[in-house]
Amino acid sequence: MRRSATALRHNLARALALAPGSRIWAVIKADGYGHGMEWAAAELAGVAQGFAVSCVEEALALRESGAAAPILVLQGPRTPAEWELCARHDLQPVLHDEAQLPTLAGFNGELPGLWIKLDTGMHRLGFAPLKAQILFQQLRGHPAARRGLHWLTHLACADQPAHPLNREQLERFAHAVSELPGQRSVANSALVMSGGAAAFTRAEWIRTGIMLYGPSPLEGSAGPEHDLRPVMTVTAPLIAVKRLEPGATVGYGATWTAGRSTRAGVVAIGYADGYPRHAPTGTPVLVRGRECPLIGRVSMDMLEIDLTDVPEADVGDPVILWGEGLPVERIAEAAGTISYDLLTRVAGRLRVTDIG
Ligand SMILES: *Cc1c(COP(=O)(O)O)cnc(C)c1O
Repeated sequence: MRRSATALRHNLARALALAPGSRIWAVIKADGYGHGMEWAAAELAGVAQGFAVSCVEEALALRESGAAAPILVLQGPRTPAEWELCARHDLQPVLHDEAQLPTLAGFNGELPGLWIKLDTGMHRLGFAPLKAQILFQQLRGHPAARRGLHWLTHLACADQPAHPLNREQLERFAHAVSELPGQRSVANSALVMSGGAAAFTRAEWIRTGIMLYGPSPLEGSAGPEHDLRPVMTVTAPLIAVKRLEPGATVGYGATWTAGRSTRAGVVAIGYADGYPRHAPTGTPVLVRGRECPLIGRVSMDMLEIDLTDVPEADVGDPVILWGEGLPVERIAEAAGTISYDLLTRVAGRLRVTDIG
């Protein structure tokens, strides 16, 4: 796997350009969407105003790596001890559920900020919007909220800009917090990129993950169309090339049959490295700048491709599975999944090369 810090910083600049006046929580949960959380934080230090991670554990690892920026903990603390850790390590946790309130009871440390999540229609985490006022009254005097009580929500359908739930959620949120002080954070990558809600993509905290790594979350589009650059390029060498006669089958289950005399190539990457096992015949790979189709089933450590139309290809050639020149969105779509899933599954087994 090659990764590009230049591309990462370019994409962050794109996000900020699309959300003028906003500050950014660069979302680097799930090991920086598979790119390395600590690497991403180090490369974005000084340009991202803060980082967002899922849990206290991730936040502690980030602090330990030397990150000094504000850190938002999206799932928030689950135990009294985790509230104490938030105070000690200067973390900004999210309060999203009644079940967290008892764990906060005995806490009197200070936090750099406490964020309250409202559930405006995603129905995953968050309090009912009607409770915003009550929570505000209840928490305003609490030490946890002394330095700031802020508000966030998350959209369910931002990747489909025309979906009516987007407007409903934004209205519910605006209504719930209109009279309340504090900062706000609504926009994920898709909302920032669709420009769907200027009020929430300007002068607030945007919370962008996927676009920082290059893919577009918007349905039916790929990152390069939005001037986003792939940060990760997955490559593997061609380790064997062979001639197949018409009628020969390839791989486990013999699911693919040569219809013509075929030059087949074996690439040293498989599902144990994070390449999707469900990628079907026809999924593209890039060899010497040309697209070749995957043939047959993906194995644990290898996959096969049809090289007939790239006769100059040979053993030792690097094959691009996704990244530069081949958006991961295309592979995701072929495999019936999303770019997030592919990026976060890339196995530690792949050697990482930093290309600047
Ligand atoms: C992961 C996450 C994000 C980032 O979403 P992207 O689609 O990657 O931009 C933002 N907010 C919350 C609550 C998240 O869980």
